[in-house]
Amino acid sequence: MSNYCPICEELIFSWEPHVCDPVWNVRIDDKDYNSDPDDEFTPVRAPSAESAACIFAENWDTEDYTLLSGDELLVLVSRPGEPEQMFKVYGQMVSEYWAEAACTTGTSA
Ligand SMILES: [Zn+2]
Repeated sequence: MSNYCPICEELIFSWEPHVCDPVWNVRIDDKDYNSDPDDEFTPVRAPSAESAACIFAENWDTEDYTLLSGDELLVLVSRPGEPEQMFKVYGQMVSEYWAEAACTTGTSA
């Protein structure tokens, strides 16, 4: 038996009954990116419209990292029976530093 949901392919950790996240339809609606009202919507599985917008933008922003460089992207998110929502998506590159003990060759004076 697989621990992955056969529908949404999410890894299932708990014994609680699994419910798949809903599918949202997302498309770019941003004049800066030559979007067209006839552009197709991309289905995105996510717990909320807002997170669907972020998942879509993350998948879109893989070549020039436009959003991570400070730009923003307008996207439309919809689902049957719910009003269409528009989100402005931003990104941010996070710097992270860490240290680990290293061997020293002498003692400090
Ligand atoms: Zn599922």
